Amino acid sequence: MTESNIREALARLHRAPDSEVLAPLLAAAEVGPEERERILARAAGLLADIRAGEQEGWVNRFLKHYRLNSEEGRALLSLAEAFLRVPDAATADALVRDKIGAADWESAAGASPSLLVNSATWGLVVSRALLSGEGGVLRRLVQRAGEPFVRAAVGAAMRLMADLFVMGRTITEALARADQRDYRIFSASFDMLGEAARTMADAERYFVAYAEAVAAVGREANRRGHSVSVKLSALHPRYETAQAARAVPAIVERLEALATAAASAGVPLTIDAEEQDRLLVSLDIIEALARTPSLSGWDGLGLAIQAYGKRARPLIDWAQALASATGRRLTVRLVKGAYWDSEVKRAQEAGVAGYPVFTRKAATDVSYLACARALLDAPNLTPAFASHNALTVTTIVEWAGQRRDFEFQRLHGMGAGLYERLVENEGYQCRLYAPVGGHRDLLAYLVRRLLENGANSSFVHQLADCTVSEADLLADPVAKLRATGATSPAIPLPADLFMPERRNSEGLDLAHPQVLSATVAAVGRALAESFRAAPLISGTAADGPARPVLAPFDPARRVGEVIEATAADVKAACAAAAAAQPEWDRTPLKTRAEALDRLADRLEADRPALLALLQAEAGKTLPDALAEVREAVDFCRYYAAQARTLFEPKPLPGPTGEANVLRLHGRGAFATIAPWNFPLAIFLGQTVAALVAGNSVIAKPAPQTPLVAARAVAHAHAAGIPPEVLHLVPGGSDVGAALVADSRIGGVAFTGSTATARRIARALLAEDGRPLVPLIAETGGLNAMIVDSTALPEQVVTDVITSAFRSAGQRCSALRLLILQEDVAEPILAMLRGAMDCLIIGDPLDPATDVGPVIDAAAQARLLARLEAMGDSVFHRLPVPATGYFVPPALIRLPSVEALEEEWFGPLLHVVLWDGSDLPGLVGRINASGYGLTMGLHSRIAATAADVERLARVGNLYVNRSMIGAVVGSQPFGGEGLSGTGPKAGGPHYLLRFATERVTSTDTTSAGGNASLLAIAD
Ligand SMILES: Cc1cc2nc3c(=O)[nH]c(=O)nc-3n(C[C@H](O)[C@H](O)[C@H](O)COP(=O)(O)OP(=O)(O)OC[C@H]3O[C@@H](n4cnc5c(N)ncnc54)[C@H](O)[C@@H]3O)c2cc1C
Repeated sequence: MTESNIREALARLHRAPDSEVLAPLLAAAEVGPEERERILARAAGLLADIRAGEQEGWVNRFLKHYRLNSEEGRALLSLAEAFLRVPDAATADALVRDKIGAADWESAAGASPSLLVNSATWGLVVSRALLSGEGGVLRRLVQRAGEPFVRAAVGAAMRLMADLFVMGRTITEALARADQRDYRIFSASFDMLGEAARTMADAERYFVAYAEAVAAVGREANRRGHSVSVKLSALHPRYETAQAARAVPAIVERLEALATAAASAGVPLTIDAEEQDRLLVSLDIIEALARTPSLSGWDGLGLAIQAYGKRARPLIDWAQALASATGRRLTVRLVKGAYWDSEVKRAQEAGVAGYPVFTRKAATDVSYLACARALLDAPNLTPAFASHNALTVTTIVEWAGQRRDFEFQRLHGMGAGLYERLVENEGYQCRLYAPVGGHRDLLAYLVRRLLENGANSSFVHQLADCTVSEADLLADPVAKLRATGATSPAIPLPADLFMPERRNSEGLDLAHPQVLSATVAAVGRALAESFRAAPLISGTAADGPARPVLAPFDPARRVGEVIEATAADVKAACAAAAAAQPEWDRTPLKTRAEALDRLADRLEADRPALLALLQAEAGKTLPDALAEVREAVDFCRYYAAQARTLFEPKPLPGPTGEANVLRLHGRGAFATIAPWNFPLAIFLGQTVAALVAGNSVIAKPAPQTPLVAARAVAHAHAAGIPPEVLHLVPGGSDVGAALVADSRIGGVAFTGSTATARRIARALLAEDGRPLVPLIAETGGLNAMIVDSTALPEQVVTDVITSAFRSAGQRCSALRLLILQEDVAEPILAMLRGAMDCLIIGDPLDPATDVGPVIDAAAQARLLARLEAMGDSVFHRLPVPATGYFVPPALIRLPSVEALEEEWFGPLLHVVLWDGSDLPGLVGRINASGYGLTMGLHSRIAATAADVERLARVGNLYVNRSMIGAVVGSQPFGGEGLSGTGPKAGGPHYLLRFATERVTSTDTTSAGGNASLLAIAD
C-alpha cells in the first residue's frame, strides 16, 4: 500500500459502518475446519492451565467474588476509586458508610482460596459489621475503637487491593519484584502510572518519572529485555488535535529525549494507544520520532494498535511503511483496546456519523485476528500480541507455526496461567505490562482494569462464570459475527440516539485533523459574504440607516450591518402577526411541525455560514459555535416531535352519551426576545416553540447579534413558516419595550437579565384592560459547585475549566462560585491554576482558541472594573490580547458564599472554602441568594448527592460532571426563583405554556338517542 492509500483508508474507515469495515477482516480472520480443531484442542488445554493458575490471577479472584453488577462489586469499585485520596477522617468515614453499609461482604469472605482476596474482604466485613450494628462479639470488640478502626480496616483493604494491581510503588521496587521467582520467566514493560496531564507541572512530573524508569531499567543488570511504556497524554496537558501545533513539537521533544536515553541504555520504548480522537496526532508524533536522525537504526521503538478501532488494519500497513522507510524494525503491540465504553459515549455526545470502534465484541476479536495475520506477515514489524483470551492466543500460536520471533504480552495480575506453559515448554516469549506508581496515580488504571474485566463480554470474566460453557467461551468469532450481523442493535448510531422520536443533530468530528481544517476553511469562505439584518415584516425588509456590526475580538472588523426597527415597524409587525395568527393556528399541526423539521435540515445544510456568524458576531470558539448550531437543530426537531403528540386533540372521559375533547391552540402573537449569548439556539428555540404551538411570532434578537437571527428567520421562511406569521424586529431595549407594550401581544418568551424580566412583567400589567398574558422568562444565576474531598481532582479541574471559562463564562449556566472543601482546596487550586495557564485566549476564529472575548465594550468594562475592585482577592489571572473585548479569566477568593451578591457574566470564577461540615447549611446558604439556575456537585458519596438533590432549589443539578451544555430533551434547562419562571426549555412541558386550552363538550344523544350505548353487545 502506498502512503496515500493508507491515509485514504484511515480516513475512510474511521467511522464507516461496521459491516463495511469488517468484510475484508472476516475473510482474513477465517480459520479452516482442521485448523479450528487444532486451535480448540490447544485452547481447551490452556483453559485448564488458566484455571489451575487462578491462584495467581488476583484480578480474576477479585472479580469472581465481587461481580461488577452486584452491590458489593459496585461498592468496591467506588471505594477503590476514591478512598485512598480522601485526606480527612470525617469524609472518609462518610464514604465508607456510604459504600460499605449496603453491601453483603460476609458471603464473600472466606469463600476465596486467595489469601489476598480474603484479607481485603475481611477488612470490609469488619467494617460492615461495625456500621450496620451487626456482628455480635466482633462488633462489641471493635466498637470501642469506633470509626477510626473502620477507616483503618477499609484503608488496609484498599491499599492491599491497590497493591495487587501495581508491580511496585517505585521503579526500583518494581524491578526487584520482576526478579522474583514468579516473574522470572517474563520480561516486563514498566508503565509509569499517571496519564492525561492537566498542567505543565504534571507533564514535567510524568516525564521525569519516565526518564527515571528508563535509566533504572538501563542500569538493571538482569533486565531480560525489560522495556518502558509511555502514554503521550502524560507528556502534555493539551495533547489534542486543535492544539497540535504546539502540543506535537513539545511532545516530540520530550519523547526524543526519552528515546535517546532509552536507545543508549538499550531499553525498548513502547507508545501506548489511547483515545481514537488522538490517533492521527499520535501517528504524527511517532513518525517524527522514527525519523529523528539520531535514532536512526534503533530497533527499540514500539507502538500499540487497538484492534477495536476501525482503522486498526491500515495502521499495520502504516507501521510497516514507516519501519521500512526508516530502515528499522518496529515493535507493534496489538491490543483489543481499553477505552471502549468511553469511545462509544464520546461519539454519541458528539453526534458524529458513526463509531470509531466496533460495537460487537466478536468484531473486535475478528479485527484482532486479521491484524495479527498481517503483523505476522509484515517484514519490518516485530509483533507483540497482548491478550488474555485463550482462543485469540491459540489461534495466533496456530498461525505462527514454528516461529518464535514475536512475543505475547499480559497485564500484571492476569494471564499468568495462560502463558506459563507456552513460555516454559514451548519457547514463546511473554512480557508483563507492569504498572508502577503510588496509590494516587493508580486510580484511572485500576478502574479501567476492573471495568474491563468485569464486563460480561470479557474473556476473563466469562471464564470465571461457571454458567458459560467451554463451547461458548471458545466460539469462533468469525462464525459468531456472521450469525449475529456486524452491528450491535443495542447501540444505536449517534444520529439515532433519540429515535424513533427524532433524529439527533449532526456533529462534526473536530478531533479529526481533516475535518477540522475543512471546517475552518468553510467558515473562512462563509465570512466573505456580506451579512445584513433589517426589520422583516410580512416578508418585506424595511429600509433605513444601517449600523455596522463589529467583531468583539476585533472591533475594527466589520461582520455585516443592521437596520434597527422603528416604533412604526414594531406596530406594523404586531398588527400583521395578530391578523395572521388565527389562520396559522388552523393550519394542520402536521404542516407546522414539518416546517420545523425542514428548518432543522436547512440549518444543518447552512452550517458553515451559521458557524461563521456565531464566531464573528458573537465571538464564539468553533466548538461552542458548533454546539449552538446543534442545539438549534435539536430544538426544532424536539418541539416538532413534542407538538405532534401533545397537540393532538385529547378525548376525555365522561358519562355515556357525551363527547369531551381537549384541544390546544396558540395564544396569539408572541414576542420572543433573545439574548446575545445564544443568538441562534435560544433565539430560535423560543421562536419555533411559539410557532409550532400555533402562535405567530415577532422575534427580537439582541442588539449585539442581529445577523445570525436574520439568517435564522430567512431559513424559517424558506422552510415553510409564512412570512406573515414570523416577523423580525432587530433593535435594542426600546424596540423590546415597544413590543411588550403592544396589547396585541399574547405572550412573551424572554431570556436575559432578571432586571429586564421584571420590567417586562410590569409592562405586561401596565394597561388595565389588557388580558393577563404569560411571560416565560429565563434569567441568570449565581451558580455554585460544591466539591468535597472524595472528588477526583483531575475531573474537578476539567469540569471547572469547562463550566467557568468556556464561552468566556457567558452562559447562564456557567459556574460562578466554586466551593471547595478546605482539606483538598490547595492541591485542586494549584492544578486549576496550572490548567488555566494552558488555556489559549484570543481570536475565536483560530481553532486553537479556548477562550474568546466577551460580547462588547460595556461588558468588558464592567468585568474589568470588578477585577480591579477585588484587588488582592484576585489570586490568579491570565494575560489577554490587547485588542478586542477580552477579560482575563481569573480566580477570586471570597470569604463566604454570601459575599457573591450578583452575577458576573464573564470568565471570573469566585472561590470559597468550606470546612466539609453541615452540608444542609451550605446548600441553604446557596439557596438563600434567591437564584436557582444550576448547581454542580463533585462527590463520590451517594448520600451527599441525594442530600444536595433534596435540598438544592435549582433547575439543573449536575453531579460529577460539568455544569454547562444542557442537551435538548435530555437535560431540559431553566431555573426557579430569581432565575426564571419555567417551564424548562427543551423539556416536555415547555410547549404547553405557549398554548391555550379549549374543551368542547357535546351531548351526542341530542340528535336522536344514545346510539353507541345501545349498540354495545350484551
Ligand atoms: C501488555 C498489554 C498492554 C496494553 N496496552 C494497551 C494500550 O496501549 N492501549 C489500550 O487501549 N489498551 C491496552 N491494553 C489493554 C487491552 O486493551 C485489554 O487488556 C484488552 O482489550 C483485553 O483483551 P483480551 O484479549 O485480554 O480480552 P477479551 O475479553 O477477549 O477482550 C475484551 C476486549 O474486547 C473489546 N470489547 C468488549 N466489548 C466490546 C464490544 N461490545 N464491541 C467491541 N469491542 C468490545 C474491548 O477492547 C475489551 O477490552 C494492554 C493490555 C496488555 C495485556
